Amino acid sequence: MTTDTPLDFGDPAGLEKLRAEFRTWLTGHPLPARLPGEPLPVFLHRWHRLLHSGGWVGLDVPEEYGGRGLTSLHQIAVSDELGARGAPGVPRIGYLAHALLEFASEEQRRRLLPRMLAGDDVWCQGFSEPGAGSDLAGMSTFAERHADGHYTVRGQKLWTSYAQYSDHCLLLARTDRAAAPHASITAFVLPLDRPGVTVRPLRAANGDDEFCELFLDDVRLAGEERIGAEGDGWALAMTTVSYERNALDTGHLSKYGLLVERLRRTARERAGELPDGLLSEIGRCFVDYEVLLAHTRRRIAERLAGQAAGPESSVDKLLMTGAEQRLYATALKVFPEELHGPGGELLAEYLYSRAASVYGGTSQIQRNIIAKRVLRLTDGDG
Ligand SMILES: Cc1cc2nc3c(=O)[nH]c(=O)nc-3n(C[C@H](O)[C@H](O)[C@H](O)COP(=O)(O)OP(=O)(O)OC[C@H]3O[C@@H](n4cnc5c(N)ncnc54)[C@H](O)[C@@H]3O)c2cc1C
Repeated sequence: MTTDTPLDFGDPAGLEKLRAEFRTWLTGHPLPARLPGEPLPVFLHRWHRLLHSGGWVGLDVPEEYGGRGLTSLHQIAVSDELGARGAPGVPRIGYLAHALLEFASEEQRRRLLPRMLAGDDVWCQGFSEPGAGSDLAGMSTFAERHADGHYTVRGQKLWTSYAQYSDHCLLLARTDRAAAPHASITAFVLPLDRPGVTVRPLRAANGDDEFCELFLDDVRLAGEERIGAEGDGWALAMTTVSYERNALDTGHLSKYGLLVERLRRTARERAGELPDGLLSEIGRCFVDYEVLLAHTRRRIAERLAGQAAGPESSVDKLLMTGAEQRLYATALKVFPEELHGPGGELLAEYLYSRAASVYGGTSQIQRNIIAKRVLRLTDGDG
């Protein structure tokens, strides 16, 4: 049954003590109420700063960069405690922080990471373009290097989540027209108030304004605003998305666990009343959750053993997408009254779950990665 914690790794370095401390802290610092009309990212940013003030953000980031120098498990334990209370998880910056830890210079890490962790600078991710989403390597935004080392960037990004609430963008641009696509992408930190940057929010069908277009018209970037070497952008992007694909890093798993447990309880209480088909869907949700849990644990164990994230993270992303989409669709059938309930949270979660097969790389692309890079199948072109 789902009584198991996602973190069955024993108690390395006082994990249980940390959990107890966090629970105590939470009783004194409950989730603040969202103000009327307050945009979700603004509300979450307040929560971010509150969590940071207690030392609960960036636990796995070394102390010299503003973190607490603990392990991934400690950060995940905090997400788990929040998820178990139905509270929003720790801010979703872990994947950006890991990209900086791996690719940024020492000076950049010391300057950028503490402010990112504290929420002093809010970051967004500028990877996708109108003609380059799945085919990210086909991006056309270009950063031209000048003799004195500065760059001029020209191009357009698309689907940049919450750019209008952000200070910095982790930007990918091509820096070499002659080199092979994967070898010619470079990462930059782009301050969004830089002349030449236009952020235009797009309204989605459900009324949200998460997505933005980002127009870059001869934006000047200093050489020191490049992250890593020219051509490192592809490897940086792959690091970023592999962290973005892990259900524990993103705090999704404990949130699913809560709903799976609620469905399981309801199935027991209303067994005679719910149709067999629905009971079997609940059973499938339970199995999905347990499978996802096992895979995610394995991934975390690999990480703790020092193994870098690889293409196997695509398996986790696919499992996470399937589990999430089935879970919310089933929950809406079991609790139809919540379609119109206060706040409509379940409906909102259901609608957002449809995006899971697109963001962080579509399900088709995950299958391609698994076929080519995990199973080593080729299509004849090698
Ligand atoms: C909620 C959400 C938040 C997002 N946030 C960000 C963000 O902050 N920053 C950012 O940079 N991007 C963001 N994105 C964009 C996301 O990364 C892209 O939407 C995604 O990579 C797909 O690209 P695309 O939309 O251009 O679709 P396309 O690449 O045009 O794909 C269209 C369809 O064709 C299929 N397809 C394409 N190529 C292949 C192939 N080779 N084999 C099989 N099928 C294929 C795809 O699977 C898909 O079904 C976000 C997306 C969503 C939904």
